[in-house]
Amino acid sequence: MTSVLELPACVTVRAPAKVNLELFVGPAREDGYHALSTVYQAIGIHDDVTATLADEWGCSVRGRDADRVPTDESNLALRAARALADHTGGQEPVHLTIHKEIPVAGGMAGGSADAAAALVACDALWGTDVPKDELEEIAAGIGSDVPFLLHGGTAVGSGRGEVVTAVLAKGRYHWVFVPSLASGLSTPRVYAAFDERTAGTTLEEPQPSAALMSALRSGDASALAPVLDNDLQADAIGLQPAIGEVIESAMGFGALAAIVSGSGPTVAILADGAEGAIDLAVALTACGVAGDVLRATGPVQGAHILPTVRQL
Ligand code: ATP
Repeated sequence: MTSVLELPACVTVRAPAKVNLELFVGPAREDGYHALSTVYQAIGIHDDVTATLADEWGCSVRGRDADRVPTDESNLALRAARALADHTGGQEPVHLTIHKEIPVAGGMAGGSADAAAALVACDALWGTDVPKDELEEIAAGIGSDVPFLLHGGTAVGSGRGEVVTAVLAKGRYHWVFVPSLASGLSTPRVYAAFDERTAGTTLEEPQPSAALMSALRSGDASALAPVLDNDLQADAIGLQPAIGEVIESAMGFGALAAIVSGSGPTVAILADGAEGAIDLAVALTACGVAGDVLRATGPVQGAHILPTVRQL
């Protein structure tokens, strides 16, 4: 436990976005969630969350898509902070300042990243020093992707995605993301379309594929490209056909692969190296298929404290 005298006045934590290299959806469970087998990769697009002691609980949001993020009790970062306070027997209120770079409602788990960042920031601010397994349990209670965003790197997610196991992965992968299609796709809508499409069929218990594991061990982007897979892709494209056009154009411009990220609508495009990523980003914007593109590499580390405070 840190001595009270050493506690910082505020703590800033950076958390990454994720891409699902593989997302297999199994049968619905008794709790209403689908059984999932996914392979996450944390990528270098980040949100920063600064926790500061305050008279009352609250949060403010700046940066990309800030106007689409709630600042009331439904904000996932605030919910995470409160859950940690409850778990540790009550703490002083905090104000969370969220600086967003991760597209909102894009299938890149931005809200979950903010929740993971808030947990790490508040734990340091309050000096609660909660053990890693307990922090992961609180994270899982906030959302299925939150434990992975504490973890980072490349990992298998099982259960409903919240049971995270690191995988042996080599290499650095160059990605281009096309996020700005219409106004986002809600995860429940995409799952509803999946349920409708698969009604009457028997869904297998999902498992990570040996082919993806082997490609990750090789560290070769060309080996990874053909084994990327997403069971929700057809449903996301059905709801937003423009997603399919982005995928087709990216492949036409020389992408190694293009896939819907999570439940979409962001398209994750795997490029052949850093130069390939720049070329794809330029081509997709120049031809008008993408209004906005983001480039990032992965894997990167999970939620971590920044040594210096971002100028707010
Ligand atoms: P997922 O794939 O995990 O369902 P997503 O990446 O598609 O999520 P998010 O950016 O996490 O989408 O946002 C989903 C919804 O969550 C938003 O529409 C927003 O209203 C709500 N939300 C709550 N807290 C946050 C937050 N801190 N940042 C972003 N969205 C938040």
